[in-house]
Amino acid sequence: MPFCRQCGKVLEEGDDYCPKCGAPQHDAPSYETPSSSGAADRGGIGWTILGFFIPLAGLIIYLLWKDQKPNTAHMAGLGALVWLIVRLGVSLLAALFH
Ligand SMILES: [Zn+2]
Repeated sequence: MPFCRQCGKVLEEGDDYCPKCGAPQHDAPSYETPSSSGAADRGGIGWTILGFFIPLAGLIIYLLWKDQKPNTAHMAGLGALVWLIVRLGVSLLAALFH
């Protein structure tokens, strides 16, 4: 149950403003830098495909963007991870059947 950060009144889930004192209830994360705001960070399966076919690029994108564009970075990193799992799986199967 959320409470007003100004006056302590109990709020409804998802209230933007306190009904009693009108204080805004939105979180303003301090770690967000102005340079990253406005940058496209929608992620998307395209980054995963890129990371899968070019795992090195996926890894680099993940390391470079994990702070500024976490969604995109995670999608690219996921692609590289899937590639690694597939690669290990293929190696394991090859070892089993030889
Ligand atoms: Zn209030």
